[in-house]
Amino acid sequence: MSDQPLCEVRSSSIHQRGLFATCDIEEGTDIIQYIGEKISKEESNRRALEWEDKARTTGEGLVYIFELDDDWDLDGRLGDNPARYMNHSCDGNCEAVNSEGENGDGEIWVVARKDIKKDEELVYDYGYDMEHFLDHPCLCGADSCIGYIVREDQRKKVKKLLKGLKKKAKKLSEQGM
Ligand SMILES: [Zn+2]
Repeated sequence: MSDQPLCEVRSSSIHQRGLFATCDIEEGTDIIQYIGEKISKEESNRRALEWEDKARTTGEGLVYIFELDDDWDLDGRLGDNPARYMNHSCDGNCEAVNSEGENGDGEIWVVARKDIKKDEELVYDYGYDMEHFLDHPCLCGADSCIGYIVREDQRKKVKKLLKGLKKKAKKLSEQGM
């Protein structure tokens, strides 16, 4: 294997910057490690809440915390962590996978879910809970995009909800309200 990184940060049409493949990548390849500060669950919850607030007022400040194991999380917001520029997609070509490093510590790797062509943007499911989905519009452009960043197993529910909202709005406009 060469030491050339398999990906690099470029500007993205999805959201400001993104991570892009610098060569063809085969399904199952460990592309890049998600690096960050190891923090306790308590600290992790504190930071997540703080950013949730910030995100709502500024429209940015997405959360960069990953679960490492039962005791520790990883905060990848600061430092040399190109993987943090990865955008969400409703049809991701990558996933974040927990694995065990050589010293037994937990690690997170971005792994290819399918064969990826050179220059394709690397994207994965942010796994956001649907609770505040209206705060997180999605611009991924995938055919299957539901318009909001929501984790895969909740998308059906959100789709239904959105349909209901549309119907309601239509009814109200028909009633001249
Ligand atoms: Zn989408």
